[in-house]
Amino acid sequence: MKRTCRIASFLLILVFSCSQARADVSFEQYFKDQTMRLDYFHTGTATEEHFSLDQMVNDGPWAGSKQQLVDDLRLGKYFFEIQDPRSGKVIYSRGYSSIYGEWETTAEAKKEWGVFHESVRFPWPAQKVKLVIYKRNQQQKFDPVWQYMVDPNSRKVNPAPLNTPYGVYEVAAHGKPQEKVDIVLLSEGYTKQQMDEFRADADKFANALFSTEPFASRKEDFNIRAVEVPAPNSGLNHPQQDIYNRSALSFSYGAFGSQRYALGYDNKTIRDAASTVPYEFTAILMNDSIYGGGGIYKLYITAASDNAFHDYLFVHEFGHHFASLADEYYTSATAYEMGSQVVEPYELNVTTYTDKDKVKWGDLIREDTPLPTPWGKEKFDDHSNQIQEKRQKMRDAKVSEDKMEQLFRQQREWEEDYLSQILHAGDVGAYEGAMYHSKGIYRSEPNCIMFTRTDHFCAACQRAIHMVIDQYAE
Ligand SMILES: [Zn+2]
Repeated sequence: MKRTCRIASFLLILVFSCSQARADVSFEQYFKDQTMRLDYFHTGTATEEHFSLDQMVNDGPWAGSKQQLVDDLRLGKYFFEIQDPRSGKVIYSRGYSSIYGEWETTAEAKKEWGVFHESVRFPWPAQKVKLVIYKRNQQQKFDPVWQYMVDPNSRKVNPAPLNTPYGVYEVAAHGKPQEKVDIVLLSEGYTKQQMDEFRADADKFANALFSTEPFASRKEDFNIRAVEVPAPNSGLNHPQQDIYNRSALSFSYGAFGSQRYALGYDNKTIRDAASTVPYEFTAILMNDSIYGGGGIYKLYITAASDNAFHDYLFVHEFGHHFASLADEYYTSATAYEMGSQVVEPYELNVTTYTDKDKVKWGDLIREDTPLPTPWGKEKFDDHSNQIQEKRQKMRDAKVSEDKMEQLFRQQREWEEDYLSQILHAGDVGAYEGAMYHSKGIYRSEPNCIMFTRTDHFCAACQRAIHMVIDQYAE
């Protein structure tokens, strides 16, 4: 369709009838069929931040859509644009989040400098283009924080293919990368001899995702490929538990001092391994039995694939990474109240509003559902507090992982039971308590995999996931 219009305009006929399509960006006009990865260092403290270029490399054939070049969802803490410097037109854009974005809010960032290696990936520009990175401010608007003129003919650009030495296992193949959502799974903490296990875990990941809506009904829109990165030793690093290990991608539990938060900072090595296959989303399967993981929008997820809750970890963390979904849980002990000045969060599954017209998923709420929607929060919080106390005691006593799993199982059973029996169970509404706030922030349903360790997404999360699938699948 677009190609026809370009030819038509070239022939100077039918110009007016093509004006609609010409307003869009034509992939072929600006880009070559390759992926450029621009690596940079992101450094700063709690109060200032700086960017500096590392390198620009060839990250393999373009796996993204050639139609959906501009990101209208505008999710994430950061956002980047590729602009045509002559016209100023935005020819590619995507939102994303980063480890830096989390780190800058920690106590450490108030005391010392941090530096993180990051990447933005976009189709290979045919001519010079301008990269502009934006950061979300307090009012949730994007301010420009860095720009860089990308000259594809510069000596700083390395167009050579990488040709990584890793084996690839096709987990799910449904079509051409440019027409599908492409997920890469990277092995971490699996030795060469454990690759059978990794392939089985990769299948487990796919099964967990594809048995959860809306991934289940959109299964055909996905490709999943697993890259086998052999580790020198089995398992991960756990500094808080005095278990030390050096793995191939350097992922570690204990990120920001949290025992069960696993991140990896060796971005270049991780990205190089991922580029073995076409990809847009990344999951790090950790060969570890200790409950833990993490998920950052458009960066990656980590999940312990040997833990009893692996299905939950895969899907919950993927929700963060894929659609920038907020955690819907909160610690009931924190009675922090949001003031009226609080700005509506950008995440599509949480809101500060209780007016049907203003709630993001308001159109899904029935007229007779009260807002905010009562859900027996006090009783739920009482139970949750008891579990928290128990958990802390068990953690202090360094009990076995089996015992922790048992507690999580009991908690899940009680919560499933309780939330399925409340008056508005199954109703879309505005349920108070979400995003680490006991009060002032609302979620769309009583239960969701972003709230408890249940097995399904709420209505707001499902819709957000559909929107992201539509950005990559055709
Ligand atoms: Zn949800």
